[in-house]
Amino acid sequence: MNRKKLFFSVLVAVLLPLALLAQTPDLEMVYKIKQKGFNNSKIEDLAFWFTDYSGPRLSASKGDKRAQELAKQKMEEMGFQNVKIEEATDFPRGGWDNLKTYAAMTAPYYTNFACNPVAWTGSTNGLVKSEVVLIDAQTEEDLAKYAGKLRGKIVMVATTTTLTLSYDPLASRYTDQELEELAKDPGPPAPRPAGNMPPNMAQNPNQNQIRGKINEMIIKEGAAVILNNSGSYNIPRSNGANYTHGDPEPIAQLNLPFEDFDRMQRLLKKDIPVEMEVEIKNNFYDSPKIYNVVGEIPGTDKKLKDEVVLLGAHLDSWHGSTGAADNTSGCIVMMEALRILIDLGVQPKRTIRVALWSGEEQGLHGSRAYVKNYLMDRETKEKKPGYDKFSVYFNMDNGSGRYRGIYLQQNEMARPLFEAWLAPFADLGASTITIRNTSGTDHLSFNDVGLPGFQFIQDRLEYGRTYHTPMDTWERLDLRDLKINAVITASFAYNAAMMDGLFPRKPEM
Ligand SMILES: [Zn+2]
Repeated sequence: MNRKKLFFSVLVAVLLPLALLAQTPDLEMVYKIKQKGFNNSKIEDLAFWFTDYSGPRLSASKGDKRAQELAKQKMEEMGFQNVKIEEATDFPRGGWDNLKTYAAMTAPYYTNFACNPVAWTGSTNGLVKSEVVLIDAQTEEDLAKYAGKLRGKIVMVATTTTLTLSYDPLASRYTDQELEELAKDPGPPAPRPAGNMPPNMAQNPNQNQIRGKINEMIIKEGAAVILNNSGSYNIPRSNGANYTHGDPEPIAQLNLPFEDFDRMQRLLKKDIPVEMEVEIKNNFYDSPKIYNVVGEIPGTDKKLKDEVVLLGAHLDSWHGSTGAADNTSGCIVMMEALRILIDLGVQPKRTIRVALWSGEEQGLHGSRAYVKNYLMDRETKEKKPGYDKFSVYFNMDNGSGRYRGIYLQQNEMARPLFEAWLAPFADLGASTITIRNTSGTDHLSFNDVGLPGFQFIQDRLEYGRTYHTPMDTWERLDLRDLKINAVITASFAYNAAMMDGLFPRKPEM
């Protein structure tokens, strides 16, 4: 070995352990976080307040507003600082609340239905009693036969969707083999294994072409109610119309689960008359803003205190349930993570902030606005003062299941950090790191402007079957899993807040 080589070997021998040391989390702090998070948890208490007590929280609705006031109050009680409900952005749909919903088939026999009105659609004129008209049209010629027959009627459009029996378990966790695949494969996310997804559906592709014309006719004729097939296991799904506040109120629309919708469709296709009673009362109001709730532990290092480590989840839900798994679970995990750090009296170098977003379900409105207001305008690429002081964002929005690891969002620079940060949680099953992207929620708002934003890999539990339905209640929460998630999040937030530099960003190309 020549002297030069020897010099480098010595250098590597000295620097490598130092580099690893720099990444090793403060294990005493991990110990303390685990003690606070597992033996003195507030998860169960928070779960009650943000499901049963808060109720549904449709974006910009009265429930959304009430939950934001509650979040502010709870953050203050737990010792968060600089707590505020801040205006984020305009919300063109405006406010909407459902006040009454009733639907039953009255002929050929009486059956009441579980149902859910489509958000931002209108009311019926009191109780509507009508025959149900099945519009079964493949061509404009077929459609013409319905002219003059739809006024004041309850209408449904024929479908070819079919449901099949499901032999999947109701809830599931990732198997070791699935996690290995996830860690290995650099490709796009694998489709979720069939477990707990809605039953199979097959749509007739020809349907879309005529569907627009059918909708035009329903509106022009002045039908009273439009029935949709949405949801399965006799549980309707919740969703919303793309409505702009101030436009005429759309015709009342009701989501019925496949089973009820298809029963009536099969009867009507045999020419057996079907009648229904429907009453829907909705309230539209001018509430054209989206608000986020934020609170924090201020940083204490003279130079780094204005830098931010951000934790977030969306507080808005759909209107058909208390949105427990989607996304009370994420909100209370983030609040509990900060609560743990506050109760430990930590003095982070950087500020650790929690943001609870609204408007996620209609297109990430709250988090996008936060990014635009403080970090970067993604259209003009104009940097805001917060951009160079932003470290990292951690989001949770995949239900109540425990963390099994984390998605790197292609950010290879994050791998050694996350390997070190997850090491103390390997015995809890949270050790998988995948280079893959995961999409669909608020971390994307940060990724869009080149900032590191991450979601954890979570066990699915019952998520696919229950989210966006009236089943998404307190019962969908696994409190033990949520405690684990809060502990891991608290540890990640602390580690990021204590790093020497900002969390590594992807290099600009
Ligand atoms: Zn969600």
